[in-house]
Amino acid sequence: MALSKLKSAAVDGVRATPVTVEVDVSDGLPSFTVVGLADKAVEESRERVRSALKHSGYKFPLSRITVNLTPSNQKKTGIHFDLPIALSILIADKQLEVPEDFSETLFVGALSLDGGLQPFPGALILVDWAKQAGIKRIVLPWDNYYEAALIGGIELVPMKNFSDVIELIFGKYLKTLPIRKNEKPQDLYAEDWLQIQGQAQAKRAALIAAAGGHNILLEGAPGTGKTLLAKGMRALLPPLTRDEQIEVVKLHSVAGALPGDKKVDTIGRPFRSPHHTASHVAVVGGGSSSRPGEISLAHNGILFLDELPEFQRPVIEALRQPLEDGEIFVTRVEQSAHYPAEFIFVATMNPCPCGWLGSNQKECNCSPYQVQQYRRKISGPILDRIDLCVHVPAVSLEDLKGKIRDTEELDRYRAQVNFAREKQLKRNGGKLNAKIPGRKVNEVFVISADAEDLIKRASEKFVLTGRSYHKLLKVAQTITDLADQDEIASPAIAEALQYRFGDF
Ligand SMILES: [Zn+2]
Repeated sequence: MALSKLKSAAVDGVRATPVTVEVDVSDGLPSFTVVGLADKAVEESRERVRSALKHSGYKFPLSRITVNLTPSNQKKTGIHFDLPIALSILIADKQLEVPEDFSETLFVGALSLDGGLQPFPGALILVDWAKQAGIKRIVLPWDNYYEAALIGGIELVPMKNFSDVIELIFGKYLKTLPIRKNEKPQDLYAEDWLQIQGQAQAKRAALIAAAGGHNILLEGAPGTGKTLLAKGMRALLPPLTRDEQIEVVKLHSVAGALPGDKKVDTIGRPFRSPHHTASHVAVVGGGSSSRPGEISLAHNGILFLDELPEFQRPVIEALRQPLEDGEIFVTRVEQSAHYPAEFIFVATMNPCPCGWLGSNQKECNCSPYQVQQYRRKISGPILDRIDLCVHVPAVSLEDLKGKIRDTEELDRYRAQVNFAREKQLKRNGGKLNAKIPGRKVNEVFVISADAEDLIKRASEKFVLTGRSYHKLLKVAQTITDLADQDEIASPAIAEALQYRFGDF
């Protein structure tokens, strides 16, 4: 009987935990048993390991093989235990001698049938954890390297196939690539913003939304450029900080949604725009694999729902929790996973089912009842969580003659957003105005007497619930920050009042 032990790790949601892979090869009827709460993917490693060993010039022992993954009380999922299992089998079967102590080395990677090392989801989470746990070195698939290299200060040994790893074990081939410097994300998003024609008021609202992290609803007839405005908003947001970028890559990694070119360190602000036919699971997350959905992939960026009333009601309603808390709990059979989901929510809608209500281009043929039903598809609780509603009119002839590709304006807007954000983060204890809890609003904001007076008069005219009162103040505070003023004055309140949803 021979026993071998190697270190690896499990990824569960956005957490990683240590796992030791023990393999026992003993005489008896040939068998392959995995114990230790492994899921189907781990159990199926047998075929991959057998074939990979064969193609790499080693033999799969015709013995009783027991693979034990410890700690045994914790569920292990995924295909990345293939590599430590395959190595442990060779060591336990004495086909391989271990020349050095591997107690501080982690082995992770899936195997293809021909012995290639395949990437696995969640590599960044695993590496991040390993660094904090004091692991010195990680042997991992080449295709996970760029993602893993975002975490500095840990030795990464990327490998293309199983034979290369064996060479490493024997010490002939040890190559550690230098950590890549963080490349500046390309300014890919400016072009959408620069294409917007006219729409001064909607652009102003987009500026406020970007500066304060406010959710925004753009309402208008087809062809008015609502989608361009939504996409263009991304150009106003500052580049991701290092920590934000790591959070983004982690979530994309767990979801298996990293770009194919592997240049994950150039990933910018997420902009997710699921189609209105998207399922609840696709948008919110969960399902059998409990992966993060679009709302978590939009974390630190923008979630864009074009034609919001067309989305299934359960999908719209499911946005309530993340819009409130900036996170989502996804339940599955055994346990629940928790993913961050803090995004700027940008939605569009037509004024009516046909789209032309109030337009001077085409006649609307919807009945008042149809219009009402259409608008009711967006429920009050969701509207409550949208700070800015803005009407996007048809582009006028004047607008068409106006300046496009106004790069100076874009530079100015970006500088304003950065400035206003810095001011907020300092004053609000690291939070943007939109993310301040309602009860804190009066502690943090300074409101002038004339502004108080205007709010009072407005509340006589419109119904201002507690929530809409807080929304009003938050938007007014962002307007105040953009103007570099220290107290909310009445013009800021007056402007904020314009962004209410008219007919509700
Ligand atoms: Zn209509």
